[in-house]
Amino acid sequence: MRFVNATLPDGSRHDIEVEGGRIAALLPASPSTPDVVDLGGTIVLPPLVDGHIHLDKTLLGLPWVPNQSTGNRVSDRIEAERRVRAARTVPEFETGSNLVRQVVASGTLHMRTHVDIDNQLGLRNLHEVLKIREHFRDLVTIEIVAFPQSGILRSPGTQELLDEAIAEGADLVGGLDPVGIDGDLDAHLDAVFAIAQRRGAGVDIHLHDGGEAGLSQILEIARRTEATGLQGKVAVSHAFALGSVSTDSVTRAADTLARAGVAIMSHGPGGATIPPLKLLREHGVEVFGGSDNIRDAWSPFGNGDMLERAMLIGYRANFRHDEELALAFDMVTAAGARVLGLADYGLKVGGPADFVTVEATTLAEAVASRKRRSLVVKSGRIVARDGVLV
Ligand SMILES: [Zn+2]
Repeated sequence: MRFVNATLPDGSRHDIEVEGGRIAALLPASPSTPDVVDLGGTIVLPPLVDGHIHLDKTLLGLPWVPNQSTGNRVSDRIEAERRVRAARTVPEFETGSNLVRQVVASGTLHMRTHVDIDNQLGLRNLHEVLKIREHFRDLVTIEIVAFPQSGILRSPGTQELLDEAIAEGADLVGGLDPVGIDGDLDAHLDAVFAIAQRRGAGVDIHLHDGGEAGLSQILEIARRTEATGLQGKVAVSHAFALGSVSTDSVTRAADTLARAGVAIMSHGPGGATIPPLKLLREHGVEVFGGSDNIRDAWSPFGNGDMLERAMLIGYRANFRHDEELALAFDMVTAAGARVLGLADYGLKVGGPADFVTVEATTLAEAVASRKRRSLVVKSGRIVARDGVLV
């Protein structure tokens, strides 16, 4: 199959020759003929990567559920989610599948999902998400983080459950505000890193705690990452603290994070400080993007469109120039792929014939306008057209 008249991210015009599900050649643009797919000059982008999603939390496809949080603290939202969860009757497999179909139609072919685990839920949500991963295995890769949403110390038994989750197929150990939620930095991180080391798993910790208190937790995560030899396998999600301390502090922290190989995930938060993405990147820190909550007990917003997420990240970070929009785009594509350890990724000869076409002519325009995805192609096969799965 040949896709002709493609504008590549660098602005060049090429035909994409596909054989056996891979890109066999990038050829000079040729005239359209009936046996080819004419892209009409639209830009062709590598598949989008969602580095932080919650497939088990979403209520997508259900009647609207108003947010029930009675306060603004993380602990208030955890309680609100318990009430919403107790009332739901539709299995997470169904709502999570609705979300997977929606994100694939917008061009996301790889994701990292966090899955709630505590002593009330046990591994129930993990089992639902493992079913989703199996069901969509030919369409999308799903990496799973065993996520202690209720804390580890606050929810006795969770440490053992996290360990069991890795044994049953989760890929990474999660964590949550070791001080803000569990009130014990060392005990929380002892549990997380012990499981990661024993199971050879990566780590991805939700860290909302701000200011110097949050920063010291991030630095302790970096210290333990180096001490355990987990460089390149650890991420801190949100890391709001990096956006709320002095430039001196965050610059020093950036060097530490880069040396420790700890990546930082941001979703371009609406109600919190955002880490200084350019500064971090300039100091060699891997920064990547994710949706986080999508229409669930935590947030009424979100749709899983990672091009829109790149725009939101850019908007929050006050990006204006094309190079800045390219950084936002990198966070939802190549950087995400590196963090997820996707060896077989990228728009290149010999690479997988996975791509998304957007009705824009430059990469910066694609991010700023986040227009319709005319095609999503997986292994050379058109899997979505105009935002709808085929
Ligand atoms: Zn999250």
